[in-house]
Amino acid sequence: MDLNDTPEQARFRAEARAWLEDHKIEAPPRSRSYEDNGHLAARRDWQRKLAEAGLAGVTWPEEFGGRGLGAIEQVTANQEISRAGVPGILDVIGIGMLGPCLIAHGSEEQKTRYLGPMLHGDEVWCQGFSEPNAGSDLANLSTEARLEDGYFVVNGQKVWTSFGWAADWCELVARTDASAAKHSGLTVLLVDMRSPGVEVRPLRQMTGESEFNELFFHDVRVPAENVLGAVNDGWNVALGTLMHERATLGAGLHVLYKRQFERLVDLANTIDRHGAPASRDPVLRQKLAQIYSEIEIMRLNQMRSISRVGRNGTPGPESSLQKLFWSELNQRFQQVAQEVLGPFAQLEKGSEFAFDEGQWAYSYLRARGNTIEAGTSEIQRNIIGHFVLGLPRSY
Ligand SMILES: Cc1cc2nc3c(=O)[nH]c(=O)nc-3n(C[C@H](O)[C@H](O)[C@H](O)COP(=O)(O)OP(=O)(O)OC[C@H]3O[C@@H](n4cnc5c(N)ncnc54)[C@H](O)[C@@H]3O)c2cc1C
Repeated sequence: MDLNDTPEQARFRAEARAWLEDHKIEAPPRSRSYEDNGHLAARRDWQRKLAEAGLAGVTWPEEFGGRGLGAIEQVTANQEISRAGVPGILDVIGIGMLGPCLIAHGSEEQKTRYLGPMLHGDEVWCQGFSEPNAGSDLANLSTEARLEDGYFVVNGQKVWTSFGWAADWCELVARTDASAAKHSGLTVLLVDMRSPGVEVRPLRQMTGESEFNELFFHDVRVPAENVLGAVNDGWNVALGTLMHERATLGAGLHVLYKRQFERLVDLANTIDRHGAPASRDPVLRQKLAQIYSEIEIMRLNQMRSISRVGRNGTPGPESSLQKLFWSELNQRFQQVAQEVLGPFAQLEKGSEFAFDEGQWAYSYLRARGNTIEAGTSEIQRNIIGHFVLGLPRSY
């Protein structure tokens, strides 16, 4: 496989880099209060600009506002966004995960209605999948949707819903046939988050942020035409969303890791450790070189995974390999950063002696969720074991 850009890809990369250079904005400071409307409005506005520049929804068909290009170009755009140090798209769930499913399973009316506002940041989406008793075993979910007079009446609870606080719409998986086997009888509904009976409660993470929420549905009425795909075929639609989630969440991440790693090397060269720079410590040197190598492995693995998506159109089980690798690598990386920075690493934003405005304390804590979100490491290994290695199913 040739790891270099083709002439067309190089042209696309140069175009993206030039646009980002001309339109560069500062990343808005992370807001602990996600209900901070100024922060949200700035991120919506930036997403709109990226979409208008053709750097969001790159793989989407042109008729829906995309560029009609391949997965490699989408990753190239993400890499250039990371390299420029500007914020990424706000609606990662809509554009990266649900959008491709709407394009695959949606009716023409649904595509026309939802894709444009999604791409331009006018409507933000959340993913209502996990429940208190259905995380890894998603098909065990019990939120019910009962058809009554042209509406599905939804009752139940979702949890860990990222962007629930900001979302205008929710991709909800609900049980529509309780008598069917657990993977059957599920349906995906597109739910307006402003519908009467939708309740959003914050959940506080150890970073201090409330990135995700609990969602409660009390007799929420969803028009029957808001079914995505077929009634009782929600498992296939949801799986498509999950495959895209695993394939896209890590895209461009190696550029971010590399930038952060280069900063860590700078700090290792200046921080004093027993009268000499920390980078002279023989054990820390080994660990830094190991992380550097793994970030390179991640880059190469990603290229392999993307070229597979490019050929087949949709991501397959190899996206689990990618997800497993970036999430566990980030935890190892953040652990090494803590060792290099010593006690300074734990200082948070606002502390006089914190490096990089407390970024290292934040990244260490946030990385713990990486091996849980989008499916835990154990689940990724089960998928790889069964679908890649041909081992028997785990259940
Ligand atoms: C930052 C973050 C954002 C998230 N955002 C969303 C979101 O937007 N929408 C959404 O729906 N969900 C979201 N989630 C939820 C996430 O998908 C679930 O937490 C995840 O799927 C695990 O489910 P669980 O928490 O119920 O753990 P459980 O499924 O209860 O797992 C508990 C432990 O058991 C292990 N385990 C379970 N089953 C098996 C098995 N068969 N074999 C081996 N080990 C097993 C797991 O690996 C884990 O270690 C988010 C989670 C995080 C951390």
